[in-house]
This record gives sequence, structure tokens and C-alpha cells, in this order.
Amino acid sequence: MSNYFERLAGDAAGRIGEITIPRANMTIETPALLPVINPNIETVSPADLQANFGVDILITNAYIIYTNDDLRAEAKDQGVHELLDFEGAIVTDSGSFQLAEYGDIDVTTRDILSFQQTIGADIATPVDIPTPPDVTRGQAEQELALTKKALADAETTDTGSMLVNAPIQGSTFVDLRETAGKHAVTTDLDVFPIGGVVPLLNNYQFATMIDVVIAAKRGLGPAAPVHLFGAGHPMMFALAVAAGCDMFDSAAYAIYARDDRYLTVRGTKHLDELEHLPCSCAVCAGHTPAEFQSLRTSTREQRLAEHNLAVSYAELRRIKQAIRRGSLLELVEIRARSHPAVYDGYRALLDHTAELEARDPVRKASPFIVSAASAERPEVYRHHERLSRLRVPDSVLLTEGGVPTEHEYDAVWRVVPPFGPFPRALSETYPLTAEIPEHSSIAAQQTAAAAVCRLVEANPDTEFSLAHNKWAMSAVDALPERVTVESLGEISNSNDSKWSSYNYLRIDRM
Ligand SMILES: [Zn+2]
Repeated sequence: MSNYFERLAGDAAGRIGEITIPRANMTIETPALLPVINPNIETVSPADLQANFGVDILITNAYIIYTNDDLRAEAKDQGVHELLDFEGAIVTDSGSFQLAEYGDIDVTTRDILSFQQTIGADIATPVDIPTPPDVTRGQAEQELALTKKALADAETTDTGSMLVNAPIQGSTFVDLRETAGKHAVTTDLDVFPIGGVVPLLNNYQFATMIDVVIAAKRGLGPAAPVHLFGAGHPMMFALAVAAGCDMFDSAAYAIYARDDRYLTVRGTKHLDELEHLPCSCAVCAGHTPAEFQSLRTSTREQRLAEHNLAVSYAELRRIKQAIRRGSLLELVEIRARSHPAVYDGYRALLDHTAELEARDPVRKASPFIVSAASAERPEVYRHHERLSRLRVPDSVLLTEGGVPTEHEYDAVWRVVPPFGPFPRALSETYPLTAEIPEHSSIAAQQTAAAAVCRLVEANPDTEFSLAHNKWAMSAVDALPERVTVESLGEISNSNDSKWSSYNYLRIDRM
């Protein structure tokens, strides 16, 4: 791997970074969205993309140019930047997409890379084999071997200062994705697109997509810049960034606009469904849905494409701000609440909490723990990991609020779902400064109970009592047998004066 990517800030596995693109003499901030430009159909011109949306990098298809005599002659003569009238960085695809769609293309990796070099592409792509999801393992292995060969051919082709993509394939076999990542990062290629995921994205299989991304990233390691090939819907950007993706490309903005489809961060709407436009971009502020419908088809398509781009770039800015503030997972959680498929993706991401935790910054703003799924966040995992390292005296009461019996304890610790137990001295330390709803979810109680189990196991000689505030039976039943359990809900009714005298133990914000 070359060394053109630098990570500047991070949250979960998401990061803000910079990719230096020598041939364009530019540095691009990531996460970046690359609009897809079809040289035959320009819904929004590249010059307008640059002027109106600040687009500094886009992607087009070198194979389309290569196979069209006029475009090919013009690109060879003037270069791809002149052809598209765009001054920013241009990434070119190789025809792999056409190979996946139509089963055959008439070009080799060496030919198409030399062509991309000739027309002045800034980041080029070899002819990898995009293996779709759910094929046989034999097919996935066989095609991965061909992709590996394409990377080897790319390494030995003269590409000058042009950066070259090293796509990661392997279908839905996570071990193959990891192996492919491990191999790609040993090449001298530069950017690492995760390919073959378009069918997953089209079918909203975001959980499988996350498993594939995490596996590829496990192989690649954290230093590699990762492009999620074909991902252009803003509803899943936050999720994919949190899993460690740095670049996206959107053909969706134009393709959806062609069918009167209106992108939102909560999913796609058809123009027919909208009585009001839930957006404040320049296009939406200037039109009612009825006015939209009355526009000429080509104008409507262009205006819709502009809205689709505006909503996509706004989401990217929101994601970058969230990374800077350490609240990316809260944004993912909001998106997960908007669509069941994104929720499935978020759950899949949380299945990899240990890996996320390893990359999560140790210090950041107080997390908001707002849902049952939050109970599995890296911040909670981190606290659980340190439980076995805490010093514990001979007898400890773990309590959600009060001291329910006359029993004397050597120490009284707080217990807060989903974090579980901690000594009072840690109350004001991260991540226990989290904002938590007054009514904990059953999942949060179960997670807290698991933390109690962990503490009890690590301290076999300590006598533990737990005073909980009406936990669900499933959480209480999960506690070790030797823990004395009392419910504060019952005690607070029968012994108000005693309860209130211990109010100082409560975390103020609860
Ligand atoms: Zn809009």
C-alpha cells in the first residue's frame, strides 16, 4: 500500500481523513462522495457540480469512453478533464461493472489502465471481477483469483503518478473478503474499493453489507482508504462511515431523478407521495410538489437530481460534524430508527463492538444512550472491559439509587444500566458521563446484569448485594446466585424516609 491517506479524526471506525492525489495536485477530504458522471448522459454538468455543490472529485467510466469512437478520440486528444469540463480529481472505472452486468467485456487490465493513464485519470481501476452475493464458494474463490491476477497486472503496468484502485471482492464470504483485504494491502496499489456490493445495497441488505465491510477492513487494517463501490444513498452513509468507509459514489442522484424519486436520509420517496417537500435545499425551497410535477421532464429530472445531491452532501457534512464531536453512533442510531434495514445494519455493526472499541477514541463528548441497541455501544463495552481491573473490598452494595437494608457494607457502588456497576469516584469520568433516559430498557438492564456477573466472577471472595429499580425478570434472573438482590421499587414505597436519606447517591441527571 502507498501512503497517500491520512486520518485526521475518528469516531467508532469512522474517520475524517485526507487523500492526497498527486496527479490532480489535490488533497481531498474524506468521507467523500463522488458523483458518477456518464459521459453520454449528463444530468447535472460537472462544471455545475463544482460551482453549486463544491464537488472536487467525481467518478466516470473509462470503459464507456474507450468503447465509443468519438469520446475515445476526444479523451485521447484533450484528456478526460477537458472532455468532462471538470477541474477537480477524476476517478475512472474500468468496465468491471459492465462485465458484471453483461458477462463479457473486450479489454484487459493492462489495456484499460494504459488508456486511463493516457486520458489523464487521477485514480484508475483494473478489471476486477465483481462477484455478486450468495454465489457458490467455488465461484467466489475462482473469481477472487482473477481479481488477484488483475491487481498483479496493475502493479506491473506503468501508471506514472496516477493512483490505482485495488478492489476487494469475495462475495458474501467474510473470510474471503478478509483474505482479499490482507492481500490487497500488500500490493503497491493505493485505494481499496469494496466491490460487488451493489446487489446488497439495492436490496437494502445493510446487515450483510456491514459484515462484508468489517471483514474487508479487518484484512486491510486501519491505514487503508476504503471506497464502498456503488454506494450512493444518503440513508446509509452514516452507517457505512461508522464501519470505516471513506468514499462513496452516487449514480443514485441521477438514476433516481429519472424516475421521479426523491432521496431523503430516511429513504426514498416518489414525487407522487409528497404533499410537502421535507427539505430546505435551494430546489425544494423554490418549488411545491405540484410545481415540480408541472415542470418539463428534463427540467424536473435535473431539479430532482440537484435536490438528491444537496441532501447527500448535507448528510456527509452532518457525518463529519458528528465525527468531530464524537457522536457518530448517535447519528447512526437516528438513521437506524428511520428504516428497518438500517436498523439491521446498525445491529450488525454492534456485533463487532470489540473491533469498533479498539478504534474508538478514548476521550470524547458524553455519549447519549437512547435505545435498547445503545446498550451494545463501544463505550459500554469499554466500561465492561475495565470492571475486572477495579479494586473491590470485602462487601459491596451495587445500587441504582438507595440503600435498602440495615446491612453494613464496605463500599456502596452505583449501578447504571447499561453500564453496570462502578465506584462513585468514577461517576464523573468518561464514558459514565453519558446521558441516559430515566426509564432504562430491558436490553440495558440485561447488559448491566451481565456487567454485574463479570464483576462478581472477577472477585470470588467479595460479598455482593444489588438494589435495582424494578428490573425485568430476565435481567434479575441473569445475576449470579450468590448476589443478594433487592428491588428498590418495593422498598421506596414502604420506607420513604430511608430512601430519601440516600438520595445523594443518585447521579444528578437521572
Ligand atoms: Zn431539497
